[in-house]
Amino acid sequence: MNEETEIQHLEPGKKVGLVVVITGNGKGKTTSALGIALRAAGHGMKVCLIQFMKGDIHSGELDSIKRLAPEVELHVKGKGFCGIMGNPYKFPEHRKDAQGALSLAKEKIASGDYDIVILDEINNSLKLKLVDLEQVLGLIDNKPAALHLVLTGRDAHPEVVFRAHTVSEIGEVKHAYRLGIAPQKGIDY
Ligand code: ATP
Ligand code: MG
Repeated sequence: MNEETEIQHLEPGKKVGLVVVITGNGKGKTTSALGIALRAAGHGMKVCLIQFMKGDIHSGELDSIKRLAPEVELHVKGKGFCGIMGNPYKFPEHRKDAQGALSLAKEKIASGDYDIVILDEINNSLKLKLVDLEQVLGLIDNKPAALHLVLTGRDAHPEVVFRAHTVSEIGEVKHAYRLGIAPQKGIDY
């Protein structure tokens, strides 16, 4: 069946639990996921956002997202990006935190309490082997049919991309960082 035939058979307005991947080297992956949470909260939808490898920098959303409660909840797991300059934690500590985030994700996905679960930075966590491919595919393959699952982060695995319905790759055209400009409040964190 070609794509055109498939599209003609779709039921208009039918609720489909999507797998959405936001990847690429450009800026805007996490902020895009936050935008989804903001949008969904307006519909009274329940959103669970779990951040992998975060927790070192106090980003504005940690506070502002509380204003979207009870629709949106945020769980920050980790000690910052693994392997980047200035991060003092060793691989086993990052892996332990990522595994904790994954267990939480599994629990939240299975609970049936959410319309959307967002796993922020899970793609790069997989690339860095903080979580395993089988674990991530397990989350995707066993999710409730109506649940939307959003996976963000650089270097999305081809198997994850293969399973997704919507994949955006954000390319870096420019980044202020390359001009030696420090991260700016409200834009970068
Ligand atoms: P944001 O959180 O702003 O949406 P992101 O999720 O797409 O960014 P990450 O890879 O998670 O990007 O990086 C988070 C931080 O690194 C942000 O402060 C972002 O501005 C910055 N950043 C993103 N892309 C680049 C880049 N190409 N070079 C340097 N820093 C970057
Ligand atoms: Mg990000």
